[in-house]
Amino acid sequence: MKVFVTKKIPEIGINYLKERGFEVNVREEEGIIPDNQLIEALKKYDGIISMLSDNLSKEVLKHAEKTRVISNYAVGYNNIDVEYAREKGIIVTNTPDVLTYATAELAFGLMLSASRRIVEGDRFTREGKFKGWEPLLFLGKTLDNATVGIVGMGRIGQKFAEMLSGFNVKIIYYSKTKKDLPYKFVDFETLLKESDLISLHLPLTKESKHMFTENEFEKMKDGVVFINTARGAIVKESDLIKALKKGKIAFAGLDVYEFEPEISDELKKMQNVVILPHIGSATEKARNDMSMLVAKNIEAVLRGGKAITPVNQV
Ligand code: NAP
Repeated sequence: MKVFVTKKIPEIGINYLKERGFEVNVREEEGIIPDNQLIEALKKYDGIISMLSDNLSKEVLKHAEKTRVISNYAVGYNNIDVEYAREKGIIVTNTPDVLTYATAELAFGLMLSASRRIVEGDRFTREGKFKGWEPLLFLGKTLDNATVGIVGMGRIGQKFAEMLSGFNVKIIYYSKTKKDLPYKFVDFETLLKESDLISLHLPLTKESKHMFTENEFEKMKDGVVFINTARGAIVKESDLIKALKKGKIAFAGLDVYEFEPEISDELKKMQNVVILPHIGSATEKARNDMSMLVAKNIEAVLRGGKAITPVNQV
């Protein structure tokens, strides 16, 4: 059975499949796979290991002939028309849990580096601008006594909340459903109004696209800190820029962008924003574990069993 991998991933999962008799072809080219190559793969391969940047829309999936399983190398699967894949008899799987810690950890890092101006301070120091201790140099925001608002209280949101346990913060959250957790569940409006720092941990769906626009930013406290490690298009980037310019948002920490991999030039020039190249799950451990999980999902489905972590049922 033949498996196509749209980008190089850690060898561990590839070797796992090869050792079990699968023929695995890994695309060696740089950059996001073009649609025509995806279409070709959907005609020829039994299984595809896809990346979150791959366009597996209805227009592409309608050409599928041979593929029975698409194993997305990510927990988010907004790049795939999962419902249409189901109609075509293709099982789609993702990689939950194995990247939860890594992603929550990165959100945590962004939170501290944005609010305490760590990256800005590093740049300043390297540029030789540090001339001695100053009472007013790089004043940032503290977590001490702050209200942290988490949007999307799933696996990563909960881990992020857990990681905050050593800090003197009050945690509130808004999610689709109230959870049995020791944090206060609030409606979206309340979260916007009461939080000193907001961190996003929800998936990108039709419902959550542009959930944060000028309207929502206006409702926030002045000088709020805003962290997004979820998906860029949950936020209208042009409105985020406006809110940053006005000082409504004092600091932002971003791992994801609305038009990824494009990032607005204005955002890149802003000192009060920490921008990262979508590295939420980028630890050796998480990426190896993801590699094994995508491989095992492929194996399970192609051997006629049940997928380990399916996101649709056929
Ligand atoms: P998860 O366990 O499914 O958690 C998502 C949470 O969001 C759930 O609690 C869900 O609520 C909530 N939610 C869904 N739609 C919502 C909406 N419209 N409004 C408010 N809450 C909503 O997923 P996860 O494993 O934590 O991952 C979360 C997201 O993080 C992924 O979808 C992915 O896009 C992103 N991510 C990014 C990176 C990165 O590299 N930056 C890495 C990993 C993941 P219910 O539980 O009530 O349904």
